[in-house]
Amino acid sequence: MKLVIVGPPGAGKGTQARIIASKLSIAHISTGEIFLHHIRNQDLLGKKVKAFYEKGNLVPDALVHEIVKEAIKAPAAKPGFMLDGYPRNLAQAKFLDKEVHTDHVINIVVSDEDVVKRMTGRRLCDCGAFYNLNIPELKPKDPTKCDKCGHKLIQRPDDNEKAILERLDVYHTQVLPVVEHYRKKGLVLDVDGSGTVEEVTALIVSALEH
Ligand code: AMP
Repeated sequence: MKLVIVGPPGAGKGTQARIIASKLSIAHISTGEIFLHHIRNQDLLGKKVKAFYEKGNLVPDALVHEIVKEAIKAPAAKPGFMLDGYPRNLAQAKFLDKEVHTDHVINIVVSDEDVVKRMTGRRLCDCGAFYNLNIPELKPKDPTKCDKCGHKLIQRPDDNEKAILERLDVYHTQVLPVVEHYRKKGLVLDVDGSGTVEEVTALIVSALEH
């Protein structure tokens, strides 16, 4: 199955994409995670995208297309995939449409107010674990340390108030037209993202079954 998950930043797309991809045994492809990985490795791609990422701006389409094409053609994506954080604008949606046939677009609906609350609480560990101080099920035992490996938790470089507001603006102006593009094709499944992680997962599973 080939799926796309969209929603405002901080809507829980990453969390849900991981859970659903694992349930369906398909690849979870997060363009944001791929960029963050390159930024932390300080490699060529990382250096090219760092400034965009840190300000909350979109990375130029040419660089995004390159990594998406590679990820969706990779052997891990043979059984299917869940694209998370892509497409982010109409040009990317049209590029994807030319590459593959998308089965469904899951649209997680969350208010702007909730978005800001969730994003300021996000914490990551270099072992891959992720937490949220403002979401009970995702809260670490110690707000500064990873439950799994004890390493110091960090904040994403773009989870500061200025970048959060910029990303919300990008969402309204660029991502909403993508949702409408797929809505016209009858592919959108709207899911209320205001509940707990488990509740939202159940809503997505049920929407995919119907
Ligand atoms: P995310 O983890 O999906 O919130 O993405 C974090 C940042 O990575 C974004 O604010 C952009 O700078 C960059 N990024 C991720 N996906 C894309 C995309 N599809 N197009 C452009 N930039 C992206």
